[in-house]
Amino acid sequence: MNRIKCMVCGMDINEKNFYINSSAFLEKNKEDRIIYCPFCGVSEIYLSNNGETYNVDSKLLDKNALRIIDHAVKLEIFNGDFYKKASEMAESSEVKEIFTALSKIEMLHAKIHFRIGGFSEFPKLTEMNYDKYNTDKALLGAAAIREKHAVTYYDKYKGEIKDKTVTNIFEALCQVEKEHIILTSK
Ligand SMILES: [Zn+2]
Repeated sequence: MNRIKCMVCGMDINEKNFYINSSAFLEKNKEDRIIYCPFCGVSEIYLSNNGETYNVDSKLLDKNALRIIDHAVKLEIFNGDFYKKASEMAESSEVKEIFTALSKIEMLHAKIHFRIGGFSEFPKLTEMNYDKYNTDKALLGAAAIREKHAVTYYDKYKGEIKDKTVTNIFEALCQVEKEHIILTSK
């Protein structure tokens, strides 16, 4: 396999990991055809063959951009936490698998934002209770609403950030969440 690196999350993609989180994707990676990053989910246009990655100097970001990125960290942790709990609550093993993969992907999105914002303390959210979603259908419905909210957030704020690299990262992750809407609306 050629050397492939994700420009958004920085992970190396190889024959040992290309299939990871595959239940979170509509189309699957194949060893000879990598179409997305298995870790953060971005599409192949964000993968590089020369080791290139997106680099953001947080010191050059203005206050507004930092505020938007800080909120994105929290939004992704909130969703990652929901999926982790949903994976424990779901009845069907297929739905469990989807939620487990989504949880890992959203948590990585939070880490990406945390890194580009140059923040020093990873936020801890208050413990949430999701008992009211007591069927797989209800959990999937709640998931789709969260994904729609994430897409709206990225769409709304990507234009407010002047740093082109951050805008590209928002756009890349927004596409990932759009696919998650389809996945959780099945
Ligand atoms: Zn990635």
